[in-house]
Amino acid sequence: MSVLEHMLFGSVHFADAKEFRAFQFKLLCIVLPVGALTTVLLLLGVASGANLIDARHVISMSVFTTLSVVLWLLLRGQPQRFLRVAWPYEILCLLEYVSALYFVSEDEMRVIWFFTNIPGVYILLGQRAGLAITVLSVVGLALGNGLLPRPYSSNGMATLLAALAYVGAFFHVYGARSLSYFFRMRESNGQLRHMASHDPLTGLLNARAYYAACDQMIHLATRNRTPYAVLFVDLDHFKRINDTHGHEAGDLVLKCVAARLMETVRQSDAVGRVGGEEFSVFLPNTDLAGALRLAESLRLGIEALMPDIGSQRLRITASIGVARNQHSEQSMAEIQRLADQAMYDAKQRGRNRVSAVELDQAAMV
Ligand code: GH3
Ligand code: MG
Ligand code: MG
Repeated sequence: MSVLEHMLFGSVHFADAKEFRAFQFKLLCIVLPVGALTTVLLLLGVASGANLIDARHVISMSVFTTLSVVLWLLLRGQPQRFLRVAWPYEILCLLEYVSALYFVSEDEMRVIWFFTNIPGVYILLGQRAGLAITVLSVVGLALGNGLLPRPYSSNGMATLLAALAYVGAFFHVYGARSLSYFFRMRESNGQLRHMASHDPLTGLLNARAYYAACDQMIHLATRNRTPYAVLFVDLDHFKRINDTHGHEAGDLVLKCVAARLMETVRQSDAVGRVGGEEFSVFLPNTDLAGALRLAESLRLGIEALMPDIGSQRLRITASIGVARNQHSEQSMAEIQRLADQAMYDAKQRGRNRVSAVELDQAAMV
């Protein structure tokens, strides 16, 4: 950022303008027809003889109305055209107000249009365009006053220029600060949401967020009548790692295992850290055979990790329980309990293995 830019715009930065762009687009979609309608009303006043306006400005109002409608038709439903429409529109507005200034000298209040224009430009086109339009309005009025058929008095002109500069400065500061607060608040909200749903050590979903995600996927699977499965992954003799190599080594192992889980599953699967050294994986659209295949490749993947804890590389193994949905309308708690039971079975049978709950076993639960 240049020194001049810093002086003019302060130290604000806009992290993400997407939502604000959507708002600007909607606003312009409203402003274009409303502006055209206002001019049509003034033109009707001219036609009825109630509004005495120079023919040259009548032409400029007609051109303004027509182009506003054309721009509106071009913009509707096309947010990507926003800048290509907003810029010509704002220039058109400025020309329209200059035309009113010079050609409708009977109207002492016509300079008010310049004041209505400035906030609009700040909101639609931002700080630089707002500043440019403010300066153009001030300079145009100051230099052009002597050429007007009925110039404003020097007192009147001083008030106009000061007020224009004030409106410009006000919207400049207000626009920059409020937008910047808005973006920062949204960024902080996003961070808070992320913190509330993710485990800080591994970056995986925490138990609450994971189960909430599973409930949604079960809902969808039930509606579409598709199978789903759950893997319950528990590291073997993890306490020993902590006891022998320290808690930090244990943390490193947890991170490595989480990363391996994430790189092994599909994007549509969900992975959660549901306990200290316990992970659960939800597999939508997966039958028992598919779940067993994935569980086996996870088991092998964890065994092959051999994380480097500085002094040595550790061999980590995991016992994995697999359960699939037995009937539609099965709750996450039920299927997780089945996977837990299968994991316990894998531990019993010597650890570092995959086990699944058989249908008849499940029926006994
Ligand atoms: P098993 O093979 O039967 O599963 O034995 P285990 O030692 O893995 O199981 P146990 O439940 O006895 O021990 C789990 C350990 O995980 C105990 C706890 O101190 C450790 N642990 C839980 N959360 C964390 C963590 O965030 N970091 C570290 N380093 N250790 C953790
Ligand atoms: Mg455990
Ligand atoms: Mg364990």
